[in-house]
Amino acid sequence: MATLHLNNIVKDFGGTQVIKGVDLEVKDREFVVFVGPSGCGKSTLMRMIAGLESTTSGEIAIDGERVNEVGPADRGLAMVFQSYALYPHMSVEDNMGFSLRLAKVPKAERREKVLAAARILQLEPLLDRKPKALSGGQRQRVAIGRAIVRNPSIFLFDEPLSNLDAALRVQMRIELAQLHEELDATMIYVTHDQIEAMTMADKIVVLQDGVVEQIGSPMELYHHPRNRFVAGFIGSPK
Ligand code: ADP
Ligand code: MG
Repeated sequence: MATLHLNNIVKDFGGTQVIKGVDLEVKDREFVVFVGPSGCGKSTLMRMIAGLESTTSGEIAIDGERVNEVGPADRGLAMVFQSYALYPHMSVEDNMGFSLRLAKVPKAERREKVLAAARILQLEPLLDRKPKALSGGQRQRVAIGRAIVRNPSIFLFDEPLSNLDAALRVQMRIELAQLHEELDATMIYVTHDQIEAMTMADKIVVLQDGVVEQIGSPMELYHHPRNRFVAGFIGSPK
């Protein structure tokens, strides 16, 4: 089980309010996509959910428990960023197992978890390679593998595919959808790509300037956009 509730979340940076009272309910195993133009606050919101950024006010709850004061390592979630810096001197296996090593998970158990993730991501033949000997898509899979080994109940993806070329993005989209099925996890996914949002989401959250403009299924937003901004962003004809 992994539900997420945001209750009137506000974030100020040096007196400027960049998140202006966001409410959101994410159900167990839902695939929720945040969309909106650059600078609207998508990453800030994700970082607050992850615990990498404090909230100025408002409450974040996972499975009904307030987590505002809980550190990122103890929230049961894992985040995959756009810039998925891998450790260049470490093999794929060591990159994927690194957080487990930090958590002092014994070597045999670490290997078992890494192998299981590698199987899902089709990285088994590449476990001994260094990142520089991998393609962009393979590197991104390693970054996702690093998240999977921690067995999080919530995955946070912040524009994970934006550094990949168009064909690879399409392939990775399909793989992420399969992953969502296989892992039974709740996923929150940030993109500024309308097609990604429309094809992947159970629920889309449209953000503009720190405010939620509309929340709904892709079809609800497409057919019943609340305003011109949503219509324009979702690409609906109205
Ligand atoms: P997005 O991910 O939607 O592009 P961000 O969440 O990165 O947007 O940024 C939202 C706003 O907050 C922007 O105006 C950005 O400049 C500002 N911002 C983000 N992080 C900081 C920070 N650490 N200090 C000051 N301002 C920030
Ligand atoms: Mg961002």
